[in-house]
Amino acid sequence: MTDYFNIKSYFTEEQVLIQSTIKDWVNKYVKPHIGHYYQKGIPFPNLVEKLAEIGALGLIIPEKYGGLGMDFLSYGLMMQELERGDTSLRVMSSIQTSLVMYAIYKYGSEDQKLRYLPKLASGELSSSFGLTEPNFGSNTSSMHCHFEEQGDFIKINGSKMWIGNSSQCDIAMLWAKGPNKEVRGIIVDKNLITNFETHEFKDKMSFKASVTGELIFESSLLPKTQILPATTGIKDAYDCLNIGRYAVAWGCIGIAIDCYETALQYSQERIQFGDAIAAKQLVQKKLAEMITEITKAQLMCYQLGVLMDKGEANYAQISMAKRNNVTMARFVASESRQVLGGMGISSEYPIMRHLMNLETLITYQGTHEIHLLITGRDITGFDAI
Ligand SMILES: Cc1cc2nc3c(=O)[nH]c(=O)nc-3n(C[C@H](O)[C@H](O)[C@H](O)COP(=O)(O)OP(=O)(O)OC[C@H]3O[C@@H](n4cnc5c(N)ncnc54)[C@H](O)[C@@H]3O)c2cc1C
Repeated sequence: MTDYFNIKSYFTEEQVLIQSTIKDWVNKYVKPHIGHYYQKGIPFPNLVEKLAEIGALGLIIPEKYGGLGMDFLSYGLMMQELERGDTSLRVMSSIQTSLVMYAIYKYGSEDQKLRYLPKLASGELSSSFGLTEPNFGSNTSSMHCHFEEQGDFIKINGSKMWIGNSSQCDIAMLWAKGPNKEVRGIIVDKNLITNFETHEFKDKMSFKASVTGELIFESSLLPKTQILPATTGIKDAYDCLNIGRYAVAWGCIGIAIDCYETALQYSQERIQFGDAIAAKQLVQKKLAEMITEITKAQLMCYQLGVLMDKGEANYAQISMAKRNNVTMARFVASESRQVLGGMGISSEYPIMRHLMNLETLITYQGTHEIHLLITGRDITGFDAI
């Protein structure tokens, strides 16, 4: 495993075990087949059940609620290894853990936690996270989706767009405006809601092994008890997104390592002009720059994980890591593609698939530009968003 600065020496035995277990599972069960599913535009079969079996649903949620009660560094290493296989694996694990289970754990009632978390951890239920709308992506605080109270029910109107696992989910963590215009988190349970539809968006060139689509509410009635009682504003949705962005930052290291290792091996085996292309200075420049960028990203994520585990990380630091590591992975994937020459575009190798997924990663969970402006605001005190 690529680890130029021996960062592994700072990990506990348990953290190393998590990384190697997930890595072996991805190598054995996912890597040989994922290209086929990606090309066909269908998710890896029984992914939720398989992720549950390896502990990838709710790793950071306490055992009392069905999780494994583990630390953020372990979670990061798990995200890295899942995304090394394919973004769709990290996406499913992270939607369920970072965005849905974490929301219920942090903002839900005891009854909601006991009712939903163990089933989400075991894979009996799968979930989605609905924040983005057709007209509000970066500017989600202006969302239209809203609800009003009707006796013991709420009536929801609006739609959510670009939602991962939309048509497959049993529950959706919805963010919508209440009667006082405050944003609340709501557990939309397909068994409890009326007039609710999901659509799948098939026509996409990125995230092809993931389901993406819409959640549509037309005067949908849901018991009032499905509102997360401790949610009071959009900041609560962003709080969950912080854990999601942390997962993306680590996942991108996995993508970069997969591309770099593929390019390194290819360059040592491919002969041109009588030599391995790895013997050529221009190829070495590419490889040396790749390993340097990967190492910088690993160091950033390691320290971010340490801060997360101490409860000292702030959202601007997470923003910086998400933005940096997506850009880093895009650079590494693009350079790796070139090292493979024509073979770089073949589905025999993972690089083009990763590159296509990176085009979404640069935009989702906060765009490249918005994260830059978050850093800008944090260091200058002026909000340019
Ligand atoms: C495959 C996929 C899966 C997704 N999964 C989910 C999901 O599960 N749940 C969910 O809620 N959402 C999801 N999203 C939505 C994603 O988070 C949004 O696409 C993202 O937040 C950007 O919103 P937008 O696409 O509306 O772009 P816009 O907000 O319209 O931005 C367009 C461009 O304008 C720029 N821009 C916007 N405002 C500013 C500004 N103030 N200053 C400078 N530049 C600016 C942006 O950086 C970007 O380059 C997903 C998206 C994709 C593509």
